[in-house]
Amino acid sequence: MDDRVDMHYVLERLEGIIKGFGPKTLIELYRFKDELVYNLGVNQMNRVREPRADVKCPECDGDGYIEFDVPRPHNVNRDVGVIDVERVTCETCHGDGTVQDGE
Ligand SMILES: [Zn+2]
Repeated sequence: MDDRVDMHYVLERLEGIIKGFGPKTLIELYRFKDELVYNLGVNQMNRVREPRADVKCPECDGDGYIEFDVPRPHNVNRDVGVIDVERVTCETCHGDGTVQDGE
C-alpha cells in the first residue's frame, strides 16, 4: 500500500470538474481535495491496524549475527599472521534474524 494516486484518475476527476464549470466548481475542487486527504487517512489507519509480517533481516540475512574478519598479525607470540572471524549480534534485528516487513 502506498500513498500514490493514479494520474489517469486525477485527470479524469479534474476534467469532470472543469467540464461542469460553474458556481459549484470551487466546492467540487474542495471535495476532490478532501477525498485525497481522506484516502491518505485511510491508508495510515490501515498501516497502524494491519500487523506486518516478519521477514528475514536484510542486514544479517536471517543469521542474527554479523561476522567480520579480524587480522591477527604475526608477533613475538605468533609465528604466522592469521585472519580471525568474530561475531557480533546484528543491531538491525537484535539477534532475532527477522524484522517486520517494511522496516
Ligand atoms: Zn539481523
